[in-house]
Amino acid sequence: MLETEKTKEKVAKSAKKMLEAGLVVETWGNVSARTKDNMVITPSGLDYNKLNFTDMVVMDIDGNVLDGKWKPSSEHPLHRLIYKRREDVSAVMHTHSIYATSFAVARKEIFTVVEDFCQVVGSSVKVTDYAMPGSEKLAVNCVETLQDCSAVLIANHGLVAVGKSLEEVLLICKVIEKTALISLYANILGGPVVIDDNHVQELHQYFKEQYGQKNK
Ligand code: 13P
Ligand code: ZN
Repeated sequence: MLETEKTKEKVAKSAKKMLEAGLVVETWGNVSARTKDNMVITPSGLDYNKLNFTDMVVMDIDGNVLDGKWKPSSEHPLHRLIYKRREDVSAVMHTHSIYATSFAVARKEIFTVVEDFCQVVGSSVKVTDYAMPGSEKLAVNCVETLQDCSAVLIANHGLVAVGKSLEEVLLICKVIEKTALISLYANILGGPVVIDDNHVQELHQYFKEQYGQKNK
């Protein structure tokens, strides 16, 4: 199977997993992956349960649709700008998950308060200024706030995670969602203790180089 066709399957599967994980409601949120020259992105406003790989849209980084029968996600400017600015990124996931979005609504950063969050995400998740969904401004705000981090909260909207694979961005979104809920509970208990920056880096390195079956 051609590389782009395989990527279409992976993006469609990943969008369904995002729905199953409760990270989106109905058709909001979107997923994309980079191919050698272009990107594959979910279509706008279609039921994730019925989504097939043939529904995926192939776009170039300048916004031209190269293949697909549907309109691409309305957040394609965001996905394209991330691929333009971050050569290290091969997958992008945008969710409207409840707990992460609560922080985006309160315009509060999610801090490095849980060890698995430090391992997987590697830094706190900051919030952008507000911009219209699907706009170039939203894309610019996200990229500027994201810098070289793994995720960013979009003000009054949701979360964006970036990574090297679709598996990684799904994991980042899940761990952020869990940490957002834990942070809320910790606030009820008197406030979380933030992990020291040096140890956050140590945890993140450990995850990238050693955790699990790496170097077996
Ligand atoms: P799409 O259905 O167009 O992908 O957009 C939903 C969304 O999350 C807009 O921000
Ligand atoms: Zn959205």
